[in-house]
Amino acid sequence: MTTEHDDQRYVEHLQRQLLREGTEEFIREQASYLDSKREEVAEIFKNLAASTNKLPSKWQAGVLAFERTSHLDCFYSTSIFNPLLEKALAICKKAEIEPTNPIHFYNSPGLEPTAAALPSNDTHMLFAGQGTFSFCNYWSKIFSEALFEAAATTLELQKWDPVIFLEQIKKTSIIEKATKLAIWYSLHDTLVGYGKLEQEERFTSLRSLLLNSMEIFVVGHEIAHFCYYEAYPDTNGLAPDQSDKDLEINCDNIGLAVCTVYGIGENNTFATNFIGPLVFLYSIHLCEKVKEIITKKPRHDSNSHPSINDRIKNVFKFAKVAKVHPDILEIMKDSLDAAIVIGSQVQLIATEVASKNTDV
Ligand SMILES: [Zn+2]
Repeated sequence: MTTEHDDQRYVEHLQRQLLREGTEEFIREQASYLDSKREEVAEIFKNLAASTNKLPSKWQAGVLAFERTSHLDCFYSTSIFNPLLEKALAICKKAEIEPTNPIHFYNSPGLEPTAAALPSNDTHMLFAGQGTFSFCNYWSKIFSEALFEAAATTLELQKWDPVIFLEQIKKTSIIEKATKLAIWYSLHDTLVGYGKLEQEERFTSLRSLLLNSMEIFVVGHEIAHFCYYEAYPDTNGLAPDQSDKDLEINCDNIGLAVCTVYGIGENNTFATNFIGPLVFLYSIHLCEKVKEIITKKPRHDSNSHPSINDRIKNVFKFAKVAKVHPDILEIMKDSLDAAIVIGSQVQLIATEVASKNTDV
């Protein structure tokens, strides 16, 4: 038996492994800023909850009551991911795919967009943090606006037309904003620290829904790792004859199932129709592509992870197996197509930037 103190030291040890050089100082500064301005931040949350943002009003009380379990803990990570974890687990329980061991959430001080699951025979640990929520937040700003424009164009023409969509989108600043984000990512491997990205207030609700649908997919995927671990503890979750890549796809499938059920319960069509997962995966794909262009270094395929392209294809495969209505498949295709239209423009500009800049 370990004591609570030992457990906390273990968590801190794991958090440290996720840290990147120089990040600790950044996290300390963030924490002390929040501590010095709790009353003001609580007031901001109060106003946001009252506006159309639909931010849960408990954030206001939460920021005042928040107690850091370690100096690497983060109020925002806990407030975003803990409720999603609870909801995702309730969905899994109903579907009888819930892990037996309890899952504890901890802030990941890592900066990468992906979360991390640490299964064990005792308590599972889920790490997610600013790397994930800032990545999802920035790209949901880009794609909520893009999907809004795509829907408006489709409605006007009575059909989806990528050429007209591109014409429309060129009148906005979406491509420019997406390019800046992708280039920033290609240089830093994260969007943490990117700074302000303006978005008109009319897109706020749409953006929140898209953001939420991306995050619930991430959480669902990590819960799946715990389920598979409990089924096959000796092989870290791998079933006989299964590869690491198969496992990742299977975890995506549970993530997709959680996402769509969550969407139905929360009235979030981006989640119900798998748009959040598609946007999340495509955003990673785009960032990786732009990184290849900017750094002029081709990316090597991972041995353990399927390519993002395969994961995107799997979303459609999953939707077909789940027998979603053909109209929904159409919406999924058009949404991905809209994202690709933007992504192609971003890659064109990145290529131009890279050709002018031999020393990025
Ligand atoms: Zn995974």
